[in-house]
Amino acid sequence: MKDLSATLRERQARGLYRSRRVVDGPQGVKVCMDGREFLSFCSNDYLGLANHPEVVAAFHAGLEAYGAGSGAAHLISGHTRAHHALEEELADFVQRPRALLFSTGYMANLGVMAVLAQRGARVFEDRSNHASLLDGARLSGARLVRYHHNDSADLSRRLQATSTGEILIATDGVFSMDGDLAPVAELADVAARHAAWLMVDDAHGLGVVGPGGRGTLAQAGLDMTQVPVLMGTLGKACGTFGAFVAGSDELIETLIQEARTYIYTTAPPAALAQATRTALRLLREGDELRAHLRSLVQRFRQGVAQLGLNLPGSDTPIQPLIIGEADAALRLSAALRERGILISAIRPPTVPAGTARLRITLSAAHTEAQVDRLLDALDEVRAAGVAQASVPVE
Ligand SMILES: *Cc1c(COP(=O)(O)O)cnc(C)c1O
Repeated sequence: MKDLSATLRERQARGLYRSRRVVDGPQGVKVCMDGREFLSFCSNDYLGLANHPEVVAAFHAGLEAYGAGSGAAHLISGHTRAHHALEEELADFVQRPRALLFSTGYMANLGVMAVLAQRGARVFEDRSNHASLLDGARLSGARLVRYHHNDSADLSRRLQATSTGEILIATDGVFSMDGDLAPVAELADVAARHAAWLMVDDAHGLGVVGPGGRGTLAQAGLDMTQVPVLMGTLGKACGTFGAFVAGSDELIETLIQEARTYIYTTAPPAALAQATRTALRLLREGDELRAHLRSLVQRFRQGVAQLGLNLPGSDTPIQPLIIGEADAALRLSAALRERGILISAIRPPTVPAGTARLRITLSAAHTEAQVDRLLDALDEVRAAGVAQASVPVE
């Protein structure tokens, strides 16, 4: 039997111990913990919809109409009019014939990959892909090949070595820990040359980038013939919970027949689907929110440059301050918390060793003054020597 307490102690010694903070009250730019209010720069609620009054009201109305629980899986009796309407609205949003709801993004990725890539197939993934994409490939039984981050030439090279069998290429659209965009047009060319499936997980792109917030693929002008599988989540810019896969009628029907993470699980509550429908409408109408968010990102990046701190190139709301060692990132996070600012330290294995970071995220719900407060706090902790471990980034 493994000695759990020794393993936990060792994890703690390496600065890799994870712990949860208990939040009282709703998610927002202000978060209450232990009776104290913090200014938060670490949620994925990019448009401020998680506690939007219209979304909350739609959730309430959904509860009145449908009750609390869905009672069964989608294929038994859990698939309501609300779920169905949400699927149609999501398909319309991403301009694809069909969309299929999954309970979470993690489950969507596992489900799709197990259907499209089986034993004998090969899955090619960006090294920086989200854990759920990597786990999806591992569970599928296919062979997993990881290519250098955003390097389509490296992908091409690795594909040459591939012999027979089905090929699936999968990438984040916007990388969750770095905030940079995948070169989706190049990847689509590579995929076409090798008759490979291309799957884009746009968890951090939808609602934020592209015309009308329609995501990384819309921004690059790519459609379903170039990228047959689009996965999106609903717990980030959309503010609620859940995920979907969008694509052709055949893809969606195949997932309904075969995706185990779709079939063998209880449908999410219909009231949640109703809340998400309202959130999706607000997201689609959110051009002003996106414009404000973009201006906050610029303001923040200019401020950070003036402080002489180093940020990798990202023009999305994900702005990682790379620190290096895990305990240095933890110290910096703690120093900011003392100043009333909440930003969590992201450490290995979520990010590569030596690149522990503060994953700063901005939201359209932030004000310019709040961004300035963050910049002031970063200046203070830097002056106090806490941020000196900050390393240059290529
Ligand atoms: C958050 C995230 C997921 C998982 O989605 P959940 O709905 O939270 O399970 C998948 N992929 C990426 C890129 C993500 O950021």
